[in-house]
Amino acid sequence: MRKNIVAGNWKMNKNHMEGARLASEILDGLRGRDIGCEVILFPTFTTISSVIDVVKGSAISVGGQNLYSERDGAFTGEISAEMLKNLGCQYVLVGHSERRNIFGEDSVFLSKKLRIALEYGLFPLFCVGELLEQREAGKAGEVVEKQLKDVLNGLGGDEISRVTIAYEPVWAIGTGKTATASDAANMHSLIRDVIKSIFGSEISQRMIIMYGGSVKAGNAAQLLNEPDIDGALVGGAALKADSFLKIIYASAK
Ligand code: PEP
Repeated sequence: MRKNIVAGNWKMNKNHMEGARLASEILDGLRGRDIGCEVILFPTFTTISSVIDVVKGSAISVGGQNLYSERDGAFTGEISAEMLKNLGCQYVLVGHSERRNIFGEDSVFLSKKLRIALEYGLFPLFCVGELLEQREAGKAGEVVEKQLKDVLNGLGGDEISRVTIAYEPVWAIGTGKTATASDAANMHSLIRDVIKSIFGSEISQRMIIMYGGSVKAGNAAQLLNEPDIDGALVGGAALKADSFLKIIYASAK
């Protein structure tokens, strides 16, 4: 059976002191509970170390929100896979819609990032999702299928086994609009079919596919009750321990 993952993407919020405080409140809220899901925090780069100091030895994992596509060199302002790994990160986000749409990251670039993350032993959390106009034009499935194939095609079995997917409809991110549980479940099932068509049935059944897009304490249980939805990638509601913890509690499979 697949485990659920609940991840908090803090985006460009929480300096290192605020981040350490939030991580410690989340840790307190999990103490003594059998949470039955994996919890990952994605702080901004300058906050990662402080968060790792707080959660070290606990069940909480930490990841980077981004990485660069090259190993090292003259890339002012960029962060490498090796740097993240060395700090103690286990995960890294690749293909978040804010990277795709604000920073113009395309599939060729994302493909390189995903591969370098794997090369350095990080687990990429690969995000896909359609824009509102693509959904309204009836093209959501086509867009997501292309995003998956463009980046994942060509990976070996051991590589794809270390990838997690997050379906995040762009119109639902930070907007308060959420896909209905059945719309999300339909897309998750399409994603699983695409993975099956490339990598076969066993890998597709093991693939963890999370949902992201305005997940809150009030809607988490309904979304996470869908058998094909294996957890949540949470933005806004991950910035307060109370709301993030409620989502974690709702995620027990
Ligand atoms: C996200 O940033 O991945 C996200 C889903 O944000 P929010 O929960 O705020 O919509």
